[in-house]
Amino acid sequence: MTVQVLVTLDGTVRDPEVPLLAADDLAAVRGDGVFETLLVRDGVVREQEAHLARLVRSARALELGEPDLDAWRACIAVVRERWASIGGGREEDLVVRLVLSRGREGTGTTTAWATGSPVSETAVHQRAHGVSVLRLERGFASDVAERAPWLLLGAKTLSYAVNMAALRHAAERGADDVVHTSADGFVLEGPTSTVVVATGRALRTPPADTGILPGTTQQALFRAATVAGWDCRVEPVRADELEAADGVWLLSSVRLLARVHTLDGTPLHTASGVHGELTALLG
Ligand code: PLP
Repeated sequence: MTVQVLVTLDGTVRDPEVPLLAADDLAAVRGDGVFETLLVRDGVVREQEAHLARLVRSARALELGEPDLDAWRACIAVVRERWASIGGGREEDLVVRLVLSRGREGTGTTTAWATGSPVSETAVHQRAHGVSVLRLERGFASDVAERAPWLLLGAKTLSYAVNMAALRHAAERGADDVVHTSADGFVLEGPTSTVVVATGRALRTPPADTGILPGTTQQALFRAATVAGWDCRVEPVRADELEAADGVWLLSSVRLLARVHTLDGTPLHTASGVHGELTALLG
């Protein structure tokens, strides 16, 4: 993703080619901070308030203080204005990333900024053609989040090195993405996505208390699907249920719905018409 717009939380537009962080910023040296990635499509910031609410929850989990949501809303607006002024059109999706770092070591002052970038070609391809996926265990039981809050499971922290390593592990084995499983055999999430499973006219996604990030895209899909008559449930999904499902998807803000067409090297069936229907529901 090539950053084309950079705006600090005070609303200042910066040159994205000029480095922003000090060498001791804790985002850089410890991955100590939180972030959000939003999609602007057809002139609308999708799920903006859900993303901001999650930013607040993540910041609280890391004891980073209360994010100033009005400042973040204004900052997003400046990113959009700047994107438009450098030629990004309404017709082209814009990815806005919000980053809140603990800031420079010893200062107690957070560093906060937002960026604007086009959607990657990989994301566009995977929206259209789906993904091959490996199931990889995360190593935790599905009940660890409450017992070990210091793991920050369910917060969207900047510490994504493990998530990226899982994706590289999959890529080295010819797969596009990953479904993480718990030590006790349940589906958790992808490294950057929520898992949704269809069985007949029911959609299921694993509960957040299994130590996963509640997805804004999944929530938007379930709202629309419920209205359209789907039975939408947040409940445990066993890892060995995926092969028999009528469809499995990875959901995330930028890629939206990526259909899982191959699981651990074996083609996965998707019931006829369901992918198109769910994609249309997400809008
Ligand atoms: N789970 C993880 C670990 C993620 O990083 C993401 C998004 O990046 C998601 C789920 C999906 O969340 P959303 O739909 O809000 O983008």
